[in-house]
Amino acid sequence: MTATSPRREWTNAKRIVVKIGSALLVDSASGRLRSTWLNSLADDVAGLIADGKDVVLVSSGAIALGRHVLGLPRRALELEESQAAAAVGQISLAAAYRDVFSARGHTVAQVLLTLGDTEERRRYLNARRTIDTLLARKAVPVVNENDTVATTEIRYGDNDRLSARVASMITADVLVLLSDIDGLYTAPPGTDKSARRIDEVRAITAEIEAMAGGAASAFSRGGMKTKIEAGKIALASGTHMVIASGQRINPLRQLVENAPSTWFLAQSDPVAARKRWIAGQLDALGVIYLDQGAEKALASGKSLLPAGVTRVEGHFERGDAVVLRGTSGTELGRGLVAYSSEDALRIIGKKSSEIAEILGPDFRTEIVHRDDMALSRS
Ligand code: GLU
Repeated sequence: MTATSPRREWTNAKRIVVKIGSALLVDSASGRLRSTWLNSLADDVAGLIADGKDVVLVSSGAIALGRHVLGLPRRALELEESQAAAAVGQISLAAAYRDVFSARGHTVAQVLLTLGDTEERRRYLNARRTIDTLLARKAVPVVNENDTVATTEIRYGDNDRLSARVASMITADVLVLLSDIDGLYTAPPGTDKSARRIDEVRAITAEIEAMAGGAASAFSRGGMKTKIEAGKIALASGTHMVIASGQRINPLRQLVENAPSTWFLAQSDPVAARKRWIAGQLDALGVIYLDQGAEKALASGKSLLPAGVTRVEGHFERGDAVVLRGTSGTELGRGLVAYSSEDALRIIGKKSSEIAEILGPDFRTEIVHRDDMALSRS
């Protein structure tokens, strides 16, 4: 492979999550936004969207921007100080993204998440659908942690892991961690002359973890350790991850040029990984019985609608796993259900127009969406 040909993983990626660290976005001395850099990033993202790719940004910078405005000291902040800083800085952060993207004809959407929204895949449903809806309309979701309300116990604290959760949640093909370093080194490159960068990681072994050490830069909370944690989440979800330097202008262009970086290569694709998880790793809390028409619809790749359900058993909440059974009682597959058992019982066998009358206009069309379904024979 020459230094100029992009990796197949990059060329083939349809859905990309890009994590942007505070140190890239905010000048440490002045606390100002690095707007030339941000504009060049927006150019790169607009280019990817024009190529038909879905791009989600996970951006830090709220605390770094806000702490300066509030005149907070340069020492490590107390939790409530960083929360106050984030409350101030998030406004400027969102406005900066809105401005650079609207100049390129794109709408930006702010998505603030807390740990609970992404921690368990079954709780993903809401955030996932919202982000899907935004992407379908060519908006650029800009995600950050909802720092102002997150307390220590329910906090990621770093956007490396948050971005990996987001990538897993939306079944992204590639997660790019733009960082102040161009990859994973065998030892800290600043202090150890023998340190060399690793091109490719196929499994996160104890040896790889040991390389990550614990160091963090002045602004970023993570350092390499949380990047490796992010890698574990990504690889388990079938998402490739790349750590690349964000120091240069047009930071995503280097992926096309295959500039020095470290790729963490997933062994399966994200859709397969998600289906495997739905099929095998959850306790089913209920059973949904389908009529013949629905059974056929599922086999041809469609979602399950309430109209095709004849019976519901068990007690479950929205997002729980359920078993799907056909008319003969055989298991057709499993899925994450969009309704609680209580609501499901009220709407089974009913058409959309009738459901609107029972549950109000904000109901969901599918009882189990095809993306949330793993069929036994497929
Ligand atoms: N959510 C934090 C912020 O926006 C950043 C966390 C991190 O640097 O990883 O300032």
